[in-house]
Amino acid sequence: EAQRIPPWPVVSPEAGTRSVQQPERFSIHPAQGLQRTAGMLARLSLLVALTTLASPAAAFVPTALPLASRPVPASLSLSSGSRVAAAPLSSRASSLLAPRPASGGSLARSGRVTHSSTLASLSMLAGGDKKKIIVLGGDGFCGWPTSLHLSAQGHDVIIVDNLSRRNIDTEMGCDSLTPIESPAVRVRAWKEVSGNDIKFLNLDVAKDYDLMVQLFKDEKPDAVVHFAEQRAAPYSMKGSKQKRYTVDNNVGGTNNLLAAVVDSDLDIHLVHLGTMGVYGYGTSGGEIPEGYLNVVLPDGNAKEILHPAYPGSVYHTTKCLDALLFQFYNKNDGIRITDLHQGIVWGTNTPQTALDERLINRFDYDGDYGTVLNRFLMQSAMGVPLTVYGTGGQTRGFIHISDTCRCIEAAINNPPKSGQRVEIFNQIAQTARVRDIANIIKDQTGCEVNFLSNPRNEDAENELDVSNAKFMDFLGEMIRLEDDRGLFAEVQGITEKYKHRCIPEMILPASFWNKKTAKACETNTLEVMAAESEEGEKKLGGVFM
Ligand code: NAD
Repeated sequence: EAQRIPPWPVVSPEAGTRSVQQPERFSIHPAQGLQRTAGMLARLSLLVALTTLASPAAAFVPTALPLASRPVPASLSLSSGSRVAAAPLSSRASSLLAPRPASGGSLARSGRVTHSSTLASLSMLAGGDKKKIIVLGGDGFCGWPTSLHLSAQGHDVIIVDNLSRRNIDTEMGCDSLTPIESPAVRVRAWKEVSGNDIKFLNLDVAKDYDLMVQLFKDEKPDAVVHFAEQRAAPYSMKGSKQKRYTVDNNVGGTNNLLAAVVDSDLDIHLVHLGTMGVYGYGTSGGEIPEGYLNVVLPDGNAKEILHPAYPGSVYHTTKCLDALLFQFYNKNDGIRITDLHQGIVWGTNTPQTALDERLINRFDYDGDYGTVLNRFLMQSAMGVPLTVYGTGGQTRGFIHISDTCRCIEAAINNPPKSGQRVEIFNQIAQTARVRDIANIIKDQTGCEVNFLSNPRNEDAENELDVSNAKFMDFLGEMIRLEDDRGLFAEVQGITEKYKHRCIPEMILPASFWNKKTAKACETNTLEVMAAESEEGEKKLGGVFM
């Protein structure tokens, strides 16, 4: 009953038309997982190298240049370590030129972070037992590559997804820039490539409660990773329909999940994807700790409390409400929970999704779902100006999709002990200011940067000072925007390759926080965007018309 798989919408002309070979008849032993992953990584390095060579992006991704002669983006401060903070740099000779810690070396920053070697990190990650893991929302941007990553490590993975994200694309008249395949084709392709089985179930976490309880009882998972929420702040602010849907889906889904774990009578470890936005994006007045704050109560007693919630959209509010549900069920029912306060995820492919075109990850570029860096790279590939909202002084946390996968694996391998409070990690590699990111891309590609009226109700400028010590301890180095491994080029290669699928109108902001911002944004038209740039008329004629 739980395995009903209704037809899903065909999302690309290619979907379903490809002939799929029969899966190879072999299975992977858990002990072979690391070896196989090493092989995949080697193949990916080759693939990235070839992509870099073949892509026009190679012209501005200076992987072949010695470190000191690489072009440096203007006024950029991107930091990592246990304490990540953004502030403009006075000199172009920024930390980007600082030598990276050698593999196996250790670099202490802010006194608490030890960068372990990549190999040590990998073996630490792979050191856990083989687990059965249910990935809720496993068809999505983060969920799909995470599912493959966990499967590649030898874990037994079951994906649950109701395909609501694909349906929202249909509703908006948009689509992933990359031609993603149906879940059935995806898991078949993964079986061919890796030999590993991944089951896919179409189930609505917010509605199909009994099926979820039955699934847990039947499968007895060690861990459930919860990605299955409506995740776009702009979409959650589009109108009352979307506000109500986001609350019902996200809060209802999380409550169902927690109640289902209780009803299953199993000691399941929940790993939830939250957001850095729960802390708010005002200047915080100090380093944001990982989830908890030590305060002194009016009676003089010290207490550790959840960091005050300060959401900036209906979407972010649902993540704050999730955190309260976690605190309650953890206290009341002893559920072991890890809540990951994740930054904005960038990138497209991971070592696993790059193995076969049919495994390609989704890439959102539209005004509602496109995250800022991916949107900018898409715009530069289209030869149109980047659309910075307001002054671009917003500082946000960032993480590459490959590190999202590694963080989740580390969280699964290091569950809280029975009776322990909710474990909270800040899942970011670095912070960066939006206009600095725009300037990096401008420096590299010569594209224009346009400043549009901000559709959001947010601080025009903010600092962000965040602790990410726990993951740095687990993972060592994380991928950074200015990384020299060609990952920026990977995204640029994707945008170049699939730009014929882009609908330019979808780039513009289409959701407004309130009537005032909606009014202010009336002038944000494609024509204004293009005309504001020096070569506007040409761009308008060449690309938009
Ligand atoms: P996504 O929309 O691509 O994926 C979410 C998946 O969950 C989709 O496939 C969707 O169909 C599914 N889903 C939604 N509601 C469901 C339900 N009721 N039942 C079953 N499936 C359901 O989003 P994403 O970018 O992969 O984000 C995953 C999680 O990570 C979200 O919770 C999001 O808040 C969090 N997160 C994402 C980012 C980011 O930059 N992408 C940043 C911070 C946090």
